[in-house]
Amino acid sequence: MNNKLYGNLIFELSKPGRKGYSLPKTDYSHSSSVLPPYLLRGKDAELPECDELTVVRHYTNLSHNNFGVNDGFYPLGSCTMKYNPLINEEVAALPSFNDLHPAQPAETCLPAMALYYDLQSMLAELTGLSEFTLNPCAGAHGELTGLMIIRAYHNSRGDQKRIKVLIPDSAHGTNPASAAVCGLEVVEVKSLDDGTVDVEDLRTKLNDEVAAMMMTNPNTLGIFEKNIPEIAKLVHECGGLMYYDGANLNPMLGVCRPGDMGFDVMHINLHKTFSTPHGGGGPGAGPVGVRKGLEQFLPTPRIVYNEDDELGLEVHTGDYEQALGSIGNYFGNYNVLIKAYAYILSLGREHVKYVGPLATLNANYIKEKLKDLYELPIDGHCMHEFVFDGLKDKSTGVTTMDIAKRLLDYGYHAPTIYFPLLFHESLMIEPTENESKETIDGFIEVMRKIAQEAKDDSELVKTAPHLTPIGRVDDVLAAKHPVTTYRQLKNNQPE
Ligand SMILES: *Cc1c(COP(=O)(O)O)cnc(C)c1O
Repeated sequence: MNNKLYGNLIFELSKPGRKGYSLPKTDYSHSSSVLPPYLLRGKDAELPECDELTVVRHYTNLSHNNFGVNDGFYPLGSCTMKYNPLINEEVAALPSFNDLHPAQPAETCLPAMALYYDLQSMLAELTGLSEFTLNPCAGAHGELTGLMIIRAYHNSRGDQKRIKVLIPDSAHGTNPASAAVCGLEVVEVKSLDDGTVDVEDLRTKLNDEVAAMMMTNPNTLGIFEKNIPEIAKLVHECGGLMYYDGANLNPMLGVCRPGDMGFDVMHINLHKTFSTPHGGGGPGAGPVGVRKGLEQFLPTPRIVYNEDDELGLEVHTGDYEQALGSIGNYFGNYNVLIKAYAYILSLGREHVKYVGPLATLNANYIKEKLKDLYELPIDGHCMHEFVFDGLKDKSTGVTTMDIAKRLLDYGYHAPTIYFPLLFHESLMIEPTENESKETIDGFIEVMRKIAQEAKDDSELVKTAPHLTPIGRVDDVLAAKHPVTTYRQLKNNQPE
């Protein structure tokens, strides 16, 4: 547990002259440096000086202050990948993948190229689209790439006036942000009370300036957009393209495909549907797929199949006239691509079709078991996730924040809170397909217990967490006056 000796600040453990390493003697001296003198350090960096065991214990101790997917249930919503088989890490670390350099000659890394090509093809098959690029490094990066492809398509037809992107009000914040970065104008489309896109509102916003409609299905409320065929028809009739934000692909996997619903361009968050832990902002991968007829706009380099080539596979580097060119470094986050490939192979065609139904079943089970105590603003069948609007009984003053903090005391990670913005007390729960019934029942029991505590002893919930190494944090103070260095902490005031 939180042993004082190995406490939070490694600088406090430092003893001048103490070392946990020894380096061989070297002839190197400052005077032989190739760096100009003004770039050379005048005195040693003020790093903590500790013995090896102290360092190991310090960091191990810090890791115990954290909550990760390997500690317990992690119902964070908005399609967060929570099952990351360690074997995928081992595969990604194999020297034959890990020691490659992206600039080495193609004939020396054929297996890696084959993996890349296979993954492109698998994603195309799973989504019903024609071709994929694996270059984009995140979902938002994929959105930007996809919108650039859509722009390139309209421009190639001399249709430059299409500068508007229709985005439902339930969309993830990256959708309007990506459109803006791409130089496009965002037009918001309203949602109905059931959480789906208001087709009548959409009709009034369709015209010859519309470049695309961006949709997420199931949307960020966990609701399946059942009017997609009609929406796709309307958007296509007015000359726009349909963009699919594939961050919520989990519940669709093996059940239905964006390509079959009329989408033209999409991205997949590999780190949300196909393994790779992505807490703390990365790394990720946001491959982009296009339907037949748009392949020529995909960014390069790409691995393509070439019958005339001795290797079969070939790196295409921008000799397509209309291609976007490079949108990232080399071939994207290769390490994430390997993990996705390993994950898809381990599921196989046979099991991939259970991903969607199981994720959906688990979410609906939790929702039904809790909806008598928690406010369910949109009732009915959900997909892989759903949103409560806080406790049903608002008289106790216990908020979504309090519930999230109290869950930590019981050993559960908090769900996503205060997102989506459509409700005041959003509590977004996503169990995913991999959790056992016992785990899910344990979570339900604790959520019911917290609802009871809110009635019996609301202070207990409002001041939670009580059992974590650090108690309730003042987030406003933390955001306004972030303490980012050891010295600040020590003096307890901004430097
Ligand atoms: C996570 C998410 C994104 C953004 O993906 P990043 O990989 O975080 O950039 C976009 N849309 C939806 C619906 C998401 O859940």
